[in-house]
Amino acid sequence: MDLKQCIRDVPDFPKQGILFKDITTLLKDRQALKEAIDRMCAPYRDMEIDQIVGIESRGFIFGTAMAMALNAGFVPIRKPGKLPAETEREEYALEYGTDAIEIHRDAIKPGDRVLIVDDLLATGGTASAAVKLIKKLGGRVTGACFLVELIFLNGRQKLGNVPVHVVMGFEGE
Ligand code: AMP
Repeated sequence: MDLKQCIRDVPDFPKQGILFKDITTLLKDRQALKEAIDRMCAPYRDMEIDQIVGIESRGFIFGTAMAMALNAGFVPIRKPGKLPAETEREEYALEYGTDAIEIHRDAIKPGDRVLIVDDLLATGGTASAAVKLIKKLGGRVTGACFLVELIFLNGRQKLGNVPVHVVMGFEGE
């Protein structure tokens, strides 16, 4: 199954010049959704991941499904002010603008094997901020997994030695 065909390109969203990769067209297709989750999980089946950290908000969709499939817990990373208990915060640069993300301080135990999940790797700013948050809490980042990579933005570079797995990469088409 060619999952690339299930992603819709929306030009100039949310800003002029951005080609937005819309995953809702993949989510509503039951076969594509199952295949996407299976392929995202494939490298981690024997890795004994303790926690999947999903990044707001599309990372919640893929991260929770992967947590169930991999017998792991799920931890949300959210935009500032959304998490109710004590948080750690990290600022980051986005492909379009700047922002910050937060995690609950007690969400990760020291030594936990953690996998970061989001729908899309663009500049890598969000995911590298997530790596820093998890390390602050003493977690071991065993990998970062994305459905889509925008290869031309070199987001992997920002993730240093964190192993990255993606299901599909776009070269700028
Ligand atoms: P970045 O921090 O640049 O890697 O951006 C990653 C985050 O922004 C992810 O949560 C994506 O959902 C979102 N994002 C960035 N660029 C795009 C794009 N062209 N299409 C869809 N989502 C994007």
